[in-house]
Amino acid sequence: MDKRMLRELELLSVARIYGYEEGDGRSQVTGSRLQAKADVHLPPDTSHLIPSMDWPALRSAVAACTACGLCKQRKQAVFGVGSESAAWLFVGEGPGADEDQQGEPFVGQAGKLLDSMMAAIGIRRGREAYIANVVKCRPPGNRTPTPEEAAACAPFLDRQVELIAPKLIVALGKTAAMRLLGTDASLGSLRGQVHRYRGTPLVVTYHPAYLLRNLPDKAKAWEDLIFARRTLRRIEEGASA
Ligand code: URA
Repeated sequence: MDKRMLRELELLSVARIYGYEEGDGRSQVTGSRLQAKADVHLPPDTSHLIPSMDWPALRSAVAACTACGLCKQRKQAVFGVGSESAAWLFVGEGPGADEDQQGEPFVGQAGKLLDSMMAAIGIRRGREAYIANVVKCRPPGNRTPTPEEAAACAPFLDRQVELIAPKLIVALGKTAAMRLLGTDASLGSLRGQVHRYRGTPLVVTYHPAYLLRNLPDKAKAWEDLIFARRTLRRIEEGASA
């Protein structure tokens, strides 16, 4: 298949990810990517390629992912949004109906609250922050993603963390805390401490959707954000000292 045909089939970006490259008018495949030679269908396990992907390749891989059953009912995968060099990385659970429809994380009611929470500490989506989810596809009925689904999606979030290299990660809710800290401890017990995810400082707070149902805990989330902002300032001061 030549480049023109791949482009017509909108497969060029996917083909590049799997090393199916065009040269001298002939398609060719290099090194360990030989597996993809037979055709441009996704090989069964491509997760080993993810750690070396750049943003466009990662975005295409997420869009085409079939690593777990969540792909079956999605309208689209929801990659993430924000500055690719943000100091703040907020990690939620997974897309809901609005996000599945619009292709952007946290655009529904919980998203409005997240925007106000961020605004309260002077940060804006798309500027100082990047927002991503543990799973990129909507769990049916907005159920919590299973550990298997979170594990299947883990290489994507891990690569996003590597590419952004944030100064601070904020885990929004139990699913994000479990995935990033590998603990089943209660959210309450994880608050108010600086944890680390692969070396990056991480703080934990309540998920905005939980806060919409439990308004009194908004005060605690506010405390968490103040703590997060103080933590980031200390990191920045330490870096410039
Ligand atoms: N809840 C999440 O965890 N993520 C979203 O993107 C939307 C709602």
